[in-house]
Amino acid sequence: MKKIQTVTGPIDAKDLGFCQSHEHLCILEGQSARCNPALRIDDLQASSQELTDYYHAGGRAVVDAQPVGCGRDPEFLQTISRQSRVNIIASTGFHKLIFYPENHWIFRWKEEQLAELYVQELTGGMFAPCDDQEPDQQTSIQAGQIKTALDREGLTPRYQRLFSAVAQAQKATGAPLMVHTEAGSNVTELADFLEKLDVDLHRVIFCHMDRTVPDLSVHIALCQRGITMEYDTVAREKYHSNACEIEIVRALLDAGFQSQLLMSLDVTRARLLHYGGQVGLCYILNTFLDYCLHNGISKAIMRSIFNKNPSECFSMRAYPAPIPSLYSSYSSLDVNCIPCILIPEIRGSRFECLFNNGSLNPQIL
Ligand SMILES: [Zn+2]
Repeated sequence: MKKIQTVTGPIDAKDLGFCQSHEHLCILEGQSARCNPALRIDDLQASSQELTDYYHAGGRAVVDAQPVGCGRDPEFLQTISRQSRVNIIASTGFHKLIFYPENHWIFRWKEEQLAELYVQELTGGMFAPCDDQEPDQQTSIQAGQIKTALDREGLTPRYQRLFSAVAQAQKATGAPLMVHTEAGSNVTELADFLEKLDVDLHRVIFCHMDRTVPDLSVHIALCQRGITMEYDTVAREKYHSNACEIEIVRALLDAGFQSQLLMSLDVTRARLLHYGGQVGLCYILNTFLDYCLHNGISKAIMRSIFNKNPSECFSMRAYPAPIPSLYSSYSSLDVNCIPCILIPEIRGSRFECLFNNGSLNPQIL
């Protein structure tokens, strides 16, 4: 049975239901909101109400695409999930680097420490908000995917280090790996780099492709390599019309990649109804699905995009054998360098197994 990890615990993947694969329901005050005030989504009641409306419209799950250390709050997500009955798949990983102040720990931590943090968040629990200090308070609420980003800076050494860390965590856990792309991101080079890091491209999702990469032959070439395209520019007229959105979807369908297509709204505060916005999380369910039907996209295809594909993409895979390089480096570190996350109750057989294999020295823990 395939499992999906939600903020209220694992569920059977076949029970996921209608799922928008990239939304934002909680971004606390901080660097993200300083960059763009529309990125502050911090009213528990408003987020809960938005999700409750979504549930009544037929929504059953959303992916929250905010990773650790830039405004994410696992307990906020768990509370609104419980109140609304909508399952939330939360994210570990990293965002665009402009969303971190210069003194942020993400710039100081070693690659191995970051990899270990991501593994911990997927297998043990996510850390409480840690924008202004290092992660030191672990919850029991597990992340269900790894979210990353590549901006126009490209694969510079600081992005390469982060992608290397998430690649280790992805291989150790089998979690899905989602990548924010934007105009100017070199997505083909990124796919090559991930492949070089030995990441299974069938577990990779490239977001925003419908507004960042106009050449659809690039989408198709990436699909041929196994990557899933996420189109999330629905109802965003400043980028393009819904008619244009449908044309992009149709091009992918015509090329035979129905099973590698996800869709969502990627909402910000400015588009959430309960924050005073105009669109609302229910827009796809209440408006866009009908629009698709009238434009020749069948119900069966819609079910695939919003039910079957997310259920497949966001299910965890069985853990492969431990990767020694991820952990062995700790044995040569001074005890003070070992991240605090390794010290408190490490739960789960995966870590016990590592201890038994001798990859970690339990003495120094
Ligand atoms: Zn987003």
